[in-house]
Amino acid sequence: MKQPIKKQFFKKDAKESGAYRWADLPVKDYPAAGTRSQGMTKQVLFDADEHLLSELRYFEAEPGGYSALERHDHIHAVLILRGHGKVLMGDHIEDVAQYDTLYIPPQTWHQFYAAEDAHLGFLCLVNGERDRPARPTEADIAELQKNTAITDFIRW
Ligand code: MN
Repeated sequence: MKQPIKKQFFKKDAKESGAYRWADLPVKDYPAAGTRSQGMTKQVLFDADEHLLSELRYFEAEPGGYSALERHDHIHAVLILRGHGKVLMGDHIEDVAQYDTLYIPPQTWHQFYAAEDAHLGFLCLVNGERDRPARPTEADIAELQKNTAITDFIRW
């Protein structure tokens, strides 16, 4: 049986603009090599285990940062925890701000963009058992670029 655990929240560098962090959790640069993102970090707040089938992660993009462009079978349930920015949600871009939620269905292209003047930090809930993200092929990019609603935003 697991023991009760508390993890202390703090701001890295103790500045107002400092990164949001939870003590005793590794900070991963996100994502892994071979994908394109900028200024993104990830902390896994709650890992899935035999009693909890989901995983809750905290992602944070620095001002001007963005996540990798990807899609996959698993679902994202997202809550914006700090800052503001934009998010690619399939065929359109959404403005997002603190406390907004996003539901990203299976096989929906998505990418998170922090504003130039603010971090974008968000909680992301996923199933513990999930498929690996797929990155866009050249053909995917050509198809995505036909959509003028998103072509000025996507990065890959
Ligand atoms: Mn994803």
